[in-house]
Amino acid sequence: MRTGVGYDSHRFDETRPLVLGGVSIPDAPGLKGHSDGDAVAHAITDAVLGAAGLGDIGALFPDTDPAYEGADSIELLASAVRRLREGGFRVVNVDATVIAERPRIGPHAEAMRERLGRALGTGPDGVSVKGKSNEGMGWIGRGEGLAVIAVATVAGAAGDGD
Ligand code: MG
Repeated sequence: MRTGVGYDSHRFDETRPLVLGGVSIPDAPGLKGHSDGDAVAHAITDAVLGAAGLGDIGALFPDTDPAYEGADSIELLASAVRRLREGGFRVVNVDATVIAERPRIGPHAEAMRERLGRALGTGPDGVSVKGKSNEGMGWIGRGEGLAVIAVATVAGAAGDGD
């Protein structure tokens, strides 16, 4: 068993739709980014890659590459999980915390767990997504953007001694 951590932050962009954890959230500002700006998917991608020692999202999917402009970040996550499988790993579970004053995460958490669980190959039972306010402090408190912290546990292929 191995553990990895991922972090991401994005600035709000009122002109874009909000996608978090693969779920479209209406009536909330979107996130600036080369891809769809899905900071939950990005933090989880970095956590699973880190757990397997396979680098990070920026190296795999450079934001200078036009191929990833407007990309569906769930597809990027699924692609990272395929690399894990090729390396003999499977994802056991992930736990993510979204730090934001808005939107509220709770009402969307189940849909995120479903979508992320499919990409991760864990099913929803292997995914946890929680929301946390920053108590009005700093750039998150001022509503400039949001941050996500994710932890992932992966297991090596059966019989490799992990
Ligand atoms: Mg990102």
